Amino acid sequence: MNYDKDSLYSEAITACDLAYAPYSNVAVGAVALLESGELVSAGNYENCSSPVCICAEHSLICTLNNIKNGVKIVAISVAAKYNKQLIDIAPCGKCRQVLTECSNRQKSPIMVCFSHEGKLLSVSAGELMPYAFDGNL
Ligand SMILES: [Zn+2]
Repeated sequence: MNYDKDSLYSEAITACDLAYAPYSNVAVGAVALLESGELVSAGNYENCSSPVCICAEHSLICTLNNIKNGVKIVAISVAAKYNKQLIDIAPCGKCRQVLTECSNRQKSPIMVCFSHEGKLLSVSAGELMPYAFDGNL
């Protein structure tokens, strides 16, 4: 399925409003385009005990597993605002691992769209996480 990365990124910017980020003031929004054509969004969810904070992308994948179980993800986009100003952000290492396993699980690529140095990139989860842990021991 083709998608417009600019409009998907715009949806991710809107999803920043879902964030609960009173400690870092970095509001992150993530949106997924599903094979059904639906969009589902999530924001990061901080906690005063910072190790238990949840990234927007991880929150999104967990949400999708619970409410849209089995529906494939075509693409996700992530955006962030620091003190309400748009900033570049890419998925962290943990989220790259989560997205890669999700892609492997659904047996189709998930494209990941984000802004890097002011340029909108769209790369597969696998490209974002080369040599990902695959659980094979
Ligand atoms: Zn993350």
